[in-house]
Amino acid sequence: MANEKAIFITGGASGIGQAVAKLFAARGWRVGLADVNRAGLEATAAMLPPGMATTHVMDVRDRDQWREALSAFAATTGGRIDVVFNNAGIAIGGPLAQASDDDIDRIVGINLVGVINGARAAHPFLKATPGSSLVNTASAAAIYGSSGLALYAAVKFGVRGLSEALDAEWAGDEIKVRVVMPSFIDTPLLDSNVSGTNYTARDSVRAAGLEFTPLDEVAEAIWNGIARDRVHVIIGKTARRLAFASRWMPGALRKQMRRGGMR
Ligand code: NAD
Repeated sequence: MANEKAIFITGGASGIGQAVAKLFAARGWRVGLADVNRAGLEATAAMLPPGMATTHVMDVRDRDQWREALSAFAATTGGRIDVVFNNAGIAIGGPLAQASDDDIDRIVGINLVGVINGARAAHPFLKATPGSSLVNTASAAAIYGSSGLALYAAVKFGVRGLSEALDAEWAGDEIKVRVVMPSFIDTPLLDSNVSGTNYTARDSVRAAGLEFTPLDEVAEAIWNGIARDRVHVIIGKTARRLAFASRWMPGALRKQMRRGGMR
């Protein structure tokens, strides 16, 4: 196996995936960047030290593309893949009653089935690399579901459940599993319109007076989360408040959510 550690990142063209790529590359890791967005992949690769990144245009919904991309990346790293960061995702907000069939199929296909596909395709590579980790991006939406985010909460709870299950299932293979649960981060994900309105997800975070966690803090928390022996990596003030309230004052949290959410 090559000396440098290797991380494969989906959603590597933008936002959290790009920030994690920059941090790991700066610490000497080889990076496999995967995304549907070819131009974004090239832009991220150009931010990394020369020769440290490969790019893989792929759709996380496509199981063959997963296997091909991981094999192609492993061929450049001497066979090792230390971390698979299963992070690509989309946001769709708005009342469930107004969601289209296409909205449902897209968010379940990308944010949940895409992550399951990634876990399954990653398993043989992670098993073959001592000390490896699977890191799945869920969200603070996987701590307690909020009104207007029913579909997003449903798929992110799925990612959380998958991660908790694999943490136990893969312990015998010595693969660590982590689930990242951030509150809000100012990335293009928040450009998406809340369906049936002309405001964006970013506008609703601002209107509620909630915080954005800077991307470099998120990347550092993910780095530290891999080293710590905890499945859940909770990032951001709102996520920490939600985790506290759901554990210690669930009745009050329910009332607050029914009044309109975490303010
Ligand atoms: P982003 O939009 O900046 O990045 C997401 C990336 O995923 C994009 O580059 C996009 O092209 C890619 N992608 C979308 N569909 C894909 C597909 N089918 N196959 C491959 N790639 C695909 O958003 P981000 O904020 O960096 O989001 C990354 C993850 O973090 C997502 O899973 C998101 O749900 C989660 N998250 C984001 C926030 C936030 O506030 N931004 C909060 C909690 C969790």
